[in-house]
Amino acid sequence: MTFATAKPSSLLDSCRQQEPAMLDLLRRMVEIESPSDDKAGVDQLGKLLAAEFERLGGKVTFHPQLASGNHLQAEFPGSAGKPILLLGHFDTVWPQGTLKSMPFRVEGGRAFGPGIYDMKAGIAMMLFALRALHSAGASHRPVTVLLDTDEEVGSTTGRPLVEAVAKECEAVLVLEPSQGPQGYLKTARKGVGDYTLRVRGRASHAGVDFEKGHSAIVELSRQVLEVAKFTDLARGITVNPGVIQGGTRTNVVAAEAWAEVDIRIARAADARELEQKFAALRPIDPGCSLEVSGGLNRPPMERTEGTVRLFCLAQEHAAALGLALDEASTGGGSDGNFTSALGLPTLDGLGAVGEGAHAANESIVLSALPQRTALLACLIQSL
Ligand SMILES: [Zn+2]
Repeated sequence: MTFATAKPSSLLDSCRQQEPAMLDLLRRMVEIESPSDDKAGVDQLGKLLAAEFERLGGKVTFHPQLASGNHLQAEFPGSAGKPILLLGHFDTVWPQGTLKSMPFRVEGGRAFGPGIYDMKAGIAMMLFALRALHSAGASHRPVTVLLDTDEEVGSTTGRPLVEAVAKECEAVLVLEPSQGPQGYLKTARKGVGDYTLRVRGRASHAGVDFEKGHSAIVELSRQVLEVAKFTDLARGITVNPGVIQGGTRTNVVAAEAWAEVDIRIARAADARELEQKFAALRPIDPGCSLEVSGGLNRPPMERTEGTVRLFCLAQEHAAALGLALDEASTGGGSDGNFTSALGLPTLDGLGAVGEGAHAANESIVLSALPQRTALLACLIQSL
């Protein structure tokens, strides 16, 4: 076999020929449910994926975990240079048993199923892009595939591994879903974090001893109004008290109340200021105590020069494939946030075109699948 550069059109042809095989693999992937908190399910899917990557000549390593599924790494040799990292996750937000009400099905040019868009299709695309390159005898850098298993719950165990592996790589291509019906790539993502505000007051009988009580609910309400003021839409900062609980009965002055707050920032430089604001919160009622915990857990993925370079390259390849491609920023985080924060050129949203991530209509557009897979193959080849 001679090593050469494969034409975009021939990579596209090859991906189109593989469409039935790709759909079959996707069905098998979706039918193994893999919620983040179900180690057995995630590990079962990991085994299927390992076999697929090995069949392509990849060297597979599992990184064993106690609570979450084992993370999967697959390495493919290449011509020279540092590897390209293909990054993703194979856990989903869907609880075990979702398949009963949301079975894998193909209808109206779409394939449906839990986790298909976010992001089992992205993993199938990795496999078939590599397959297209191999069968064309195309030369490329070494490729490292890294799939973690707790991305949907904050990548607690995935993060250190993602960072360690990414540091050895040239660039990072993230196969998370693309954005919107046009399938925009993601060149910026907000940083994400959360805080818990916990107030302890003093309980008393609301009728007999009202004045002896210190209401944790009233105090927490004041604190919630305070943190809501931290939102600054012009700077891309949002603070959302999303969960609130407290009290026991209407005739008791509430002794305890707590709230969980989601925070998003567009620029890393804003992290410190927001942290300081949360740290500076003090109880307004001196009879109450306030405990503030939490912080940023994903730094923002900023639109760096390296990321823009990758996007422009993707746009050129897309044009050669007859595809108009644009970019977008999103408030949602991914493991791409970690690699970008390390200074690595990171291009995200290279996965499926579709809709309904984390929603009952989760589905992918089938006609876009071979095109986007060929686009990924072109990118790997040209980097
Ligand atoms: Zn995802």
